[in-house]
Amino acid sequence: MSLQHGAYLLQGKIQPYAWGGYTYIKKWLGEVPDTHTPSAEYWLGAHPLAVSKLVTEQGLVGLDEALAVNKEAVLGNKVVQTFDTLPYLLKLLDVREMLSIQVHPTKAAAEAGFAAENEQGIPQNAAHRNYKDANHKPEVMVALSEFWLLHGFKTPALLQEVWEQFPVLQPLATVFEQGGYKALYETVMTMPEAEADTLLKVLIADAIEAKSAGSITQNDPRWWVHKYYTNGAPAQNIDKGIFSIYLLNIVHVSPGEAVFQDAGILHAYLEGQNVELMANSDNVLRGGLTPKHVDVPELMKHVRFEPVVPQVMRGDATMFGAVNYPCPVADFGIDSVTMPANGSYQGLTNSLEIWLVHEGAARVHLGSNYHFDVIGGQAFAVFAEQRFSISSAQKTNLYRAFVPAM
Ligand SMILES: [Zn+2]
Repeated sequence: MSLQHGAYLLQGKIQPYAWGGYTYIKKWLGEVPDTHTPSAEYWLGAHPLAVSKLVTEQGLVGLDEALAVNKEAVLGNKVVQTFDTLPYLLKLLDVREMLSIQVHPTKAAAEAGFAAENEQGIPQNAAHRNYKDANHKPEVMVALSEFWLLHGFKTPALLQEVWEQFPVLQPLATVFEQGGYKALYETVMTMPEAEADTLLKVLIADAIEAKSAGSITQNDPRWWVHKYYTNGAPAQNIDKGIFSIYLLNIVHVSPGEAVFQDAGILHAYLEGQNVELMANSDNVLRGGLTPKHVDVPELMKHVRFEPVVPQVMRGDATMFGAVNYPCPVADFGIDSVTMPANGSYQGLTNSLEIWLVHEGAARVHLGSNYHFDVIGGQAFAVFAEQRFSISSAQKTNLYRAFVPAM
């Protein structure tokens, strides 16, 4: 199989995780909303769990198949030498229910953890397995709607406000003063169930009362505690992830703004839609708000125990209506490109670029006699070392995932 052109429409795959919404992704794709099956994520990339397909002159061709046959032509020599595969995965997310509190390992920790679990003979698909691969998983998200997430520990001054506002948490003030972030987090995550349940019942009852009084907004931890336990606290085994809603920063991101999640930063998406770009990995260590596997000792090894002042990025304008969100990693880069009606964008790729058309309509041109049209809800791939242009028929917003030049 040899592909004739250097760019094609690309079809991704929906992931129906339970926390996803029912309408946003389906509507974006131009499909009929499904009220029974959630559409949580739409994946664009070559991850083995959901490989995207190129729409070619020979029919649908898996990106994995194209890579197997034409790796250098698709990715470019440098990326093949450095990563051997497409180093990133691009997603569209529709977060209806809160996601688990999580942290991602560094590259070195992922390599060591993956090797250790292999040595112990833990099957790669086992539910209690922590390391699905040997890669790190830094990620960046650009909000498409008003978006809320938990991100990093609050500063000491903000924690002081938490102790004052929620007296039931006051004993944690001493723990924090004496042992810092590590002791604080270890205390709440390893607290005996009965003791944790007693504290959490007070917090949940308070959250439900505040919500029904209409006196709180999304900036208040109680908003999200109420969202997680809308019908009240269970009798026992209350999720200790609830503590993190009070200890971590609640961050509001407006459309077009971005947040980068580095290794070691505790985070959880709370609500909204975004475009997310990450290293090609599935390594997640969880800290609650989930029925999934939580391995506290393993989690503790990867959390950075330090205060975080969230950095919400507006991005830097470059050329042709592009705004770049700087990410301190070699695996990926992301631009938002907004073109007016009759606008023009000129591109030259150094590796495979995946473009997601958020909204609008445009034509992609390569050379003088090959082009195809795209509209909101579609994506396309441009192979390495291709000169191409995009002309917009109307106001169009696209997201460009790429590998930074090395
Ligand atoms: Zn994450």
